[in-house]
Amino acid sequence: ADVAMYAAKGNASSVSLYDNSHDAHNPRRLAMITELGSAIRSEQLVLHYQPRYSLQEGRWCSCEALVRWQHPKLGFIPPGEFVQFAETSELIRPLTLWVARTAVRQLALWQQTGLCISTSINLSTRNLLDITLPEALAELLREYGLQPGSLELEITETALMTDPDRAMQTIERLAELGMRLSIDDFGTGYSSLAYLKRMPLHALKIDRSFVRDMLHDDQDAIIVRSTIGLAHSLGLQVVAEGVEDPATLSRLREYGCDEAQGYVLSKPMAHAAALRVMQAPLPIQTG
Ligand code: C2E
Ligand code: MG
Ligand code: MG
Ligand code: MG
Repeated sequence: ADVAMYAAKGNASSVSLYDNSHDAHNPRRLAMITELGSAIRSEQLVLHYQPRYSLQEGRWCSCEALVRWQHPKLGFIPPGEFVQFAETSELIRPLTLWVARTAVRQLALWQQTGLCISTSINLSTRNLLDITLPEALAELLREYGLQPGSLELEITETALMTDPDRAMQTIERLAELGMRLSIDDFGTGYSSLAYLKRMPLHALKIDRSFVRDMLHDDQDAIIVRSTIGLAHSLGLQVVAEGVEDPATLSRLREYGCDEAQGYVLSKPMAHAAALRVMQAPLPIQTG
């Protein structure tokens, strides 16, 4: 319905919000500006899923839906290149709802095969200012017969800063409706512990930049351990992002990190390949 609404409004109103003066001749940017709306409607977007592993329970527990654009001429476009554009236009709502519907529909199919996992999607700053979004997501979950807690919404610290009061309203509504919230890229934004304390959070995702060198950089190791301690003291789960080697995975488990995600476990993949990973035992030792 949202995508259809966008179609009715046409491209012009959406595009006028985006300042493209500095890159008007960049063909990729131009294609994105004029074609993203129709790409959403014509299913040129795809989701890849990155499985997430519970180090404490020793099982696959969730997966993150990450959007990609299969452009007919430009080929594969990563989210870093077009999500930000969507964010500065009216397109972020239809994009997020497309991602949510696709991820929820996929999760319903996976749960029917007996897989006991949840899924997460990424929200943008603008999504948090959209107070109608929580109801739309709750309706989607009802439509596919899923528990609200099987959808997790990843938000960044920075997304809270534009209009903290309004963002908090949206966040509280999402939590009231039973959805889970996590802070993505934790440690890289402008964290305010006051907000952390006030928010109905489920998990902190420790940013890859701290995890990457934690075996060799004492300060990174201290940050990772302290974050795990802080999260646990606040009653939150901790997820390590961007784990690339088995030794780091073992160390995270020793530190008491609850869950992990990263290339050592699985890259983001199309749904069929992600399912194969999550149905198989872990190919490596975690400790
Ligand atoms: P993110 O949410 O922090 O997602 C993790 C990114 O790190 C993904 O890149 C993933 O492929 C990558 N990654 C995962 N494990 C590893 C690892 O072990 N090593 C390395 N080097 N990288 C790893 P991707 O898919 O390109 O997404 C980039 C960002 O784009 C995401 O960061 C997220 O902020 C944004 N994004 C992706 N999909 C969506 C979406 O549907 N909506 C919104 N609003 N943002 C999205
Ligand atoms: Mg994320
Ligand atoms: Mg992340
Ligand atoms: Mg990150």
